[in-house]
Order: sequence, then C-alpha cells, then structure tokens
Amino acid sequence: MLRVTEIFRSIQGESTHAGRPCTFVRLTGCPMRCSWCDSEYTFTGGEQISIEAVLNQVRSFGCRLVEVTGGEPLAQREAFDLITRLCDEGYEVLIETGGYVSTENLDRRASVILDVKCPGSGEAERNDWPNLGRLRPDMDEVKFVVADRVDWDFARTIVHDYALESHAKSILISPVWEQIDLRELAGWILESGLNVRMQLQLHKYVWGEDARGV
Ligand code: SF4
Repeated sequence: MLRVTEIFRSIQGESTHAGRPCTFVRLTGCPMRCSWCDSEYTFTGGEQISIEAVLNQVRSFGCRLVEVTGGEPLAQREAFDLITRLCDEGYEVLIETGGYVSTENLDRRASVILDVKCPGSGEAERNDWPNLGRLRPDMDEVKFVVADRVDWDFARTIVHDYALESHAKSILISPVWEQIDLRELAGWILESGLNVRMQLQLHKYVWGEDARGV
C-alpha cells in the first residue's frame, strides 16, 4: 500500500521534459522541510491505495510518460515496487526526488531528477551525496533550486566538485518562485560558462502558483 496525495495528468512543468503531457503520481509525506517548499500540502493526509489501484489510475490516463513525485516519493519503501511495476509496463518513468533518500535500489530503467538542496533551503546538510555518484549521463538530471547568490555559488561549487557536466544528462537551475531576479540569475549563468539549463516552472505560469492537480 502507498499513501497517495493525488494522481493526475498534466503538462510536465520542469526538467528537459517540460511541456510534455505526463501523468503525475504524487505520494504523501516528506522528511525534509525546505524553506521555500511549494508542496506542503503533501506532508500529511493522502489516501492509502494499493499499487494495483495506482496502476489502474495511471493506465486510465493513457499517457506513456509518468512521473512519481511528492513530497519525497522515495520515503515510502513501496514506492520502489511501484516504480518497477511502471517500468515493467513500458512507461517512461521519471522520479523527482529531494535528494535525502538513497537512490541505490531504484529500478535502473527509471530516470532520476535529483534535487541538490542549497543553503537557502535550510536542508543542505541532509543531501545524500553518494546519490550524485549514481547519476547517469544518458538518463538522469540534477536540479538546484536557487534562492540567492549564496545558493548559486554553492551550486557552481557542487557542479565543479562532482564533475556534473559530464555525469548528468542536464543540470537544471531553478529560481525560487518570485524570490530572485530572473535576469540576474541568467547573468550569473552566462558569466559562469557552465553548461547548465535555467528552467522556470511552466505549470505555475499556466495555472498559477497555488493550483493543484492540473
Ligand atoms: S524535499 Fe520537496 S516536498 Fe520535501 S520539503 Fe523540500 S521541496 Fe518540499
């Protein structure tokens, strides 16, 4: 059984898959408390659902791209089984994880979008650094949510120290919503010469920052 906040079909708002129709399975609960978290509604509540029932809902949307997200999806042990079942059925599976839980036992057919928490999140001490060593250049993406210059300098250092330009398919730089000047961030990226991708949260521009399940 899994505790699930919502399952819905929408347009993928982030990563290199932004803009693609996607079914989202949003699991309940997260052990972290990022200062700028935009999904606090996932911390509690949800509904206990069997893996088979989750699969039935996913099938009903008829979409081949599926993202398992949260909260922190990997905080529930059964999520690993769900991911394997989705892969077995031939879905293209994305896992959006906050970077606290080890990805070691994750089905290798699923693509990981791994958050690295920057200092502004208040949770940088909880990054599981070995996760960076498991990134695959043809499959996985790494994301830094940046609130200010300190966060950007932190991200640059990690990109350099872990050679992420050659170990990840894409390095996503995501500004905290309405907290950082977008032109300033674009300038820092250009100035750095790093091969990263600035990304905006497409779904918030389409449906607004508080919309859920769309
Ligand atoms: S890891 Fe994600 S869901 Fe958890 S507190 Fe941070 S932003 Fe929110």
